[in-house]
Amino acid sequence: MGLFDKIKRAFTFEEASEEEQLELEALEIESMELASQPFGDFSMPDPITESILLDAKREELEAEKTYEKGLEKTRTGFGAKLNSLLANFRTVDEEFFEELEETLITSDVGYELALEITEDLRREVKLEKAKSTEDVQNVIIEKMIDIYEQDEVKSPELNIEPNRLNIILFVGVNGVGKTTTIGKLATKLQNDGHKILTAAADTFRAGAINQLIEWGRRGDFEVVAKPEGSDPAAVVFDALTKAKQENYDILLVDTAGRLQNKENLMAELAKIHRIIEREIGRKADDVLLVLDATTGQNALSQAKAFTETTDVTGLVLTKMDGSAKGGVVLGIHNAMNIPVKLIGFGEGIDDLKAFDMEAFAYGLFKGLIK
Ligand code: GDP
Repeated sequence: MGLFDKIKRAFTFEEASEEEQLELEALEIESMELASQPFGDFSMPDPITESILLDAKREELEAEKTYEKGLEKTRTGFGAKLNSLLANFRTVDEEFFEELEETLITSDVGYELALEITEDLRREVKLEKAKSTEDVQNVIIEKMIDIYEQDEVKSPELNIEPNRLNIILFVGVNGVGKTTTIGKLATKLQNDGHKILTAAADTFRAGAINQLIEWGRRGDFEVVAKPEGSDPAAVVFDALTKAKQENYDILLVDTAGRLQNKENLMAELAKIHRIIEREIGRKADDVLLVLDATTGQNALSQAKAFTETTDVTGLVLTKMDGSAKGGVVLGIHNAMNIPVKLIGFGEGIDDLKAFDMEAFAYGLFKGLIK
């Protein structure tokens, strides 16, 4: 059994015995070690150029570049598989469609979507709309974008409004990248002129608290923290009080992902939700479920587990710079019908972008399209 399968299994335990808790702790250490391993050559943009040229066009170009660069590894997996498939087939025949279907399924697109994309391609080829390899590639890209956009009912933007205290809650299992995402997002929002407060409510790990404090120091934003083992809801309460008193614009709340069992985790989140609702008179404006894209089907099971008990308003897919299979974006979106709001391409401050399906789909094939 792989590490993530074990974590998944452990995560769904209703009651964890003492032995299982020990196993969980060992797994946590193992996953942290795994996550902290280096992952390739992701170069950060030059910070000086960054601050001088802040116009919209530049941001757009930069986002495109981040997608291209960030998806390098995913592309060599997913895109390269498709490319070699295209290169090996002289004619687009039934065998090709079968292989395409399989490639899409093994890239975590999901069974139904793989079938849908292949079906569409069959039709286009029949109508002689897709003749060359490039045509076939383009139909796949367009179909991916269409599928993503067709059932986009909820906003892909963060639900931030002026003249109020906005609350964004981050949930997800341990090690997926919650704290890192908050660090990156808080820095960006603070640089954009918002008054940002964060709450270190993952009190189960001293590491998580310190990590957020360190991000706060680097990004020049405030962090409300209590010692390890404190009641997470109390941290949230303190942060809400401070945010209201001192007129903060946005409060980003980190939460724990590692509890003995799923029920504890959900009860803890429910308590945080209640406090937010009581203190600001409405629900958190965004509840972002953070998922590690490299875990493929496991990310999907986590999404299902969380959405059963929590109103998730958006997804954050992290570690897209790793060997994510790429198709997971479509697979998860299709299964959950929750918009992907943010995408993480690395550990650096600038490695978080608003999700853009078009840039994503073309980024996957960059360099492969002639
Ligand atoms: P949390 O337990 O969910 O708060 O996860 P952390 O924020 O502590 O992140 C776990 C590990 O994943 C850390 O080593 C992070 O640096 C790393 N990480 C987070 N986001 C990304 C990402 O987008 N790309 C890569 N390569 N690593 C990431």
